[in-house]
Amino acid sequence: ALRHLWHHEPLLLATLAGVGLGVVLGVALSFADLPSRAPGVLELLALPGDLLMRTLKMLVLPLITASVMAGVCALRQSTADMGKVARYTLLYYLGTTLGAVALGIVLVSAIRPGRGSPFDALDSGVGCHAANAAKVASHASATSGRSPAEALLGVVRSAFPDNIFAAAASMNVLGIITVSLLFGAALSVMGPEAAPMVQLIGIFNDAIGKIVGWVIWTSPVGIASLILTSICRACNLTSTLVALGLFIVTVLLGLGLWAGLALPALFWATTRRNPAAVYRGFSQAMATAFGTDSSNATLPITMRSAVELGCDPRIVQFFLPLGTTVNMNGTALYEAITVIFIAQAHGVALGFAGTLIVALTATLAAVGAAGIPSAGLVTMLMVLQAVELEQFAGDIAIILAVDWFLDRCRTVVNVLGDAFGTVIIDHHSRKWIPPAGGDDTG
Ligand code: ASP
Repeated sequence: ALRHLWHHEPLLLATLAGVGLGVVLGVALSFADLPSRAPGVLELLALPGDLLMRTLKMLVLPLITASVMAGVCALRQSTADMGKVARYTLLYYLGTTLGAVALGIVLVSAIRPGRGSPFDALDSGVGCHAANAAKVASHASATSGRSPAEALLGVVRSAFPDNIFAAAASMNVLGIITVSLLFGAALSVMGPEAAPMVQLIGIFNDAIGKIVGWVIWTSPVGIASLILTSICRACNLTSTLVALGLFIVTVLLGLGLWAGLALPALFWATTRRNPAAVYRGFSQAMATAFGTDSSNATLPITMRSAVELGCDPRIVQFFLPLGTTVNMNGTALYEAITVIFIAQAHGVALGFAGTLIVALTATLAAVGAAGIPSAGLVTMLMVLQAVELEQFAGDIAIILAVDWFLDRCRTVVNVLGDAFGTVIIDHHSRKWIPPAGGDDTG
C-alpha cells in the first residue's frame, strides 16, 4: 500500500510523513528539554514552518480577490440560478453550524467533563499559564464590553469596509470578499466592453494557482516544523492533559462524530455519492489544516483540491472563500462544548434558556472567528459574556495549554465542512446553471 501511495500520491505520503515526524521530534525534543537548553535551535527548527505560514498567508489576499471576481464573472447566468446557489449555500452554512453546535451541547451535557472542578487541580498562577493569562487578558480588553448583538453588527460592518487598502492590510477577509463580489458583478453587467479585464483576472488567477502548486510541494517540511514547534512550546503538558482529559475526549469525540458520521451522512443523503472520495480528494488540505492551524492559510490548497476533484471552478471560487471565513463547524462545536464545560466546572447550571443562548452565540462566534490560529478562543469571550460567565475568562488561559492541539483538530473539521459543502453544492448546481464554456461572452 505504501508503494502504491508513493507512486500515485507522493505528496500526500510526504505530508503524512511530515505530520508524523513533527509529532515524534516534538515529543522527543520536549523530553530532551530543548526549549530551555537551546532556544536558538528551536528558533531555527521553527523557521521552515514560519516561512510556510507566511507564504500561504501572503497568497490568500490575491487568491481571494482574483478567484471571487473570476467566479462571479464566470457565473454570468440568470439571477434566479445564481440566487439558488447562494440560497443553498447559506442554508448549508447555517444548517451545519447549528447542527455541530447541537451535537456539542448533547455530548458535553451527557459526558459532563466539568465535574470534579478540573481547573482547581491546576495552578493557574504559575509560569506558562500566567503568560497565557496575559495573552487572553489583552484579547479580552480588545473585545470587552461587546454584547453578542454588537458583535453581530461588527461582523456586518466589517463586510462593508470603508477603505479597500485598510481592509486588505488588516486581512479583513469578509470585506475583501464583498469588494471583489461587487467588482465582479460590475464587470459582468458591463458585457463585452469588460472582456479584456475579465481575461486579465483569469490569467492573474491562474498565475496564483501556479504559485500555490509550488508552495504545496514544500509544505511537508513546513508542516513538520510547525507541529514540532508547537509541541515544544506547550506548557506543563502532562498535568494539563490529566486535568482536562475528559474535556479533550469530549471535544475529540464531537469533532470525530461530526466529521466522520454527520457530514458524510448528509453528503450521502443529498448526493447518493460515496463520501470516501471527498476525504481522499481533500486529504492534502486536511493535513495542511492540521499543520498550519488556519483554515485561511489552507484555502489555496482546499480550492485546488476541490477543482482537482472535478468541482466546477465557478462554484469553488464562489463557495470556498466565503465558507472558509463564515462556515466553521469545528469551531462552533468547540465553543459550545467549552463554554458549557466552564459552567460545569464552576457549578453553574445554565438551564434551558442559558443553553439556548450558548447555542446561538456559539454559532455567531464561529461566524465571527477568522480562520487563523486560536481565533475561536478569542471569540469565545463573547459567548461567556452572553451567559454572564465572563468572570471565568481566566480559564481560557489554561485551555490555551491544550488549544494548540484541539485547534488543529477543529481546523481540520472546519475545512472538511467546507469541502463537503462545495461538493454538495457543486453536485446540485449542475441542474441549476449551464456548464461552463458553452456560453458566449456577449
Ligand atoms: N483555527 C481555526 C481555523 O482556522 C479557527 C479557530 O480558532 O477555531 O479554522
